[in-house]
Amino acid sequence: MKKYDFIIAGGGMAGLSLAYYLSQSPLRDRSILILDREAKNSNDRTWCFWERKNEPSPSESKGEPAIWSNPFQSILFRSWDTVSFHGTTYAGPIDMGAYQYKMLRGIDFYAFIRQELAKYPNIDWKQATINRIKDTPQGGFVIADDAPYIADYVFDSTFLLKLDQPENHNLLQHFKGWVIKTEHVCFDPQRPEIMDFRVEQHGDCRFLYVLPFDERRALVEFTLFNDKLLTDSEYELELRQYINRYLQAGAYEITETEYGVIPMSDEPAPENPFDHIVRIGTSGGYTKASTGYTFQRTQRYLQTIVQNLVKTGKPHRPAPWFGRRFKLYDSIFLNVLEKHRHPADDIFTRVYTENPGRVFTFLDEDTSFIDELRLFTTMPFRPFLNAFFDVLRRKIVG
Ligand SMILES: Cc1cc2nc3c(=O)[nH]c(=O)nc-3n(C[C@H](O)[C@H](O)[C@H](O)COP(=O)(O)OP(=O)(O)OC[C@H]3O[C@@H](n4cnc5c(N)ncnc54)[C@H](O)[C@@H]3O)c2cc1C
Repeated sequence: MKKYDFIIAGGGMAGLSLAYYLSQSPLRDRSILILDREAKNSNDRTWCFWERKNEPSPSESKGEPAIWSNPFQSILFRSWDTVSFHGTTYAGPIDMGAYQYKMLRGIDFYAFIRQELAKYPNIDWKQATINRIKDTPQGGFVIADDAPYIADYVFDSTFLLKLDQPENHNLLQHFKGWVIKTEHVCFDPQRPEIMDFRVEQHGDCRFLYVLPFDERRALVEFTLFNDKLLTDSEYELELRQYINRYLQAGAYEITETEYGVIPMSDEPAPENPFDHIVRIGTSGGYTKASTGYTFQRTQRYLQTIVQNLVKTGKPHRPAPWFGRRFKLYDSIFLNVLEKHRHPADDIFTRVYTENPGRVFTFLDEDTSFIDELRLFTTMPFRPFLNAFFDVLRRKIVG
């Protein structure tokens, strides 16, 4: 059996990003096998994220090399300098500071990576269902469609997290969206609405998300943070009501639909469970628990993994201890939501309107501790203090 240097188990967002970074690094000649059960030739999702405008990130300016700044700039579907927000006491633009809000379609991402990787004969692809991934003394071992494969390292994005421990917080971010084409001109193509809270909250966090493609086409998505999925017709009712009430759309046609569920969990998800297996993407716990955003963190983490592989031959990603404070902040926020300690629409209104310029850096975990304290002073004090003690109690007592 041929032994690969790397097997990428799951060629979705994380797996293909990793393969791309490897191909752009001194490791470009290593033998790589990419396994996925899907052909990845449909637009199965759209990623939005914010990114600095071609400037070095704070970690880059601290001396770490910027090997891949804005790697997918050439295939973005849209990017915006300003976003809008509709909260409880404010409706209008939000200053994005040094950032741009960006939108990347799955189909463009998959096609771009496939085209780039086609230049490398050392990269094999196989469409197959993975039945088993196992650590052995000889390397990471994979069975896919009953055939065995082995490699020095297996990068696994297919592992399904079990998120059920009571001492942790396990919410879900779930959403249904429609790309609509409207009769009337009704969107401002320069202004995506990242959160519109003009929807009954039912004690949850519920909002609409509107990403305009042009004046008559947009992705309109209804999103919830809670622990119960809705039925299809419940999502659709909210979408219809929002479009009828707030968009002067006239008649409209639904041209695409999107549905997704993203874990919002502070349950530990070990990235390096075994010597030869590294979990990446959602499986590796790369989703930020308090927001569900995964795309940009995955890019950052995978870049670090490839840098470490180049430098040391090992893929492990160091986690500086002081950086772990962000996990505590995420847990506190999830606790406030889970225990309904304060209305979520008011929390987000305070976060975005009282911390312009700071909020995106904070969510990127790039702020200084002083800036974090400044942001905390804009939050309702008691609910967050109670959540802090509850998180400590749950972590210590269980
Ligand atoms: C609809 C949707 C929209 C999202 N939008 C955003 C967004 O706007 N911004 C953001 O930051 N995050 C977003 N996310 C969250 C996250 O970025 C995505 O889920 C992202 O695709 C996760 O990357 P991944 O590589 O971990 O998983 P995936 O991209 O799902 O890749 C996993 C791959 O493994 C394959 N696979 C799984 N099991 C097997 C098996 N047994 N055998 C073979 N292959 C297998 C799958 O076919 C898939 O290709 C979204 C998620 C969804 C579902």
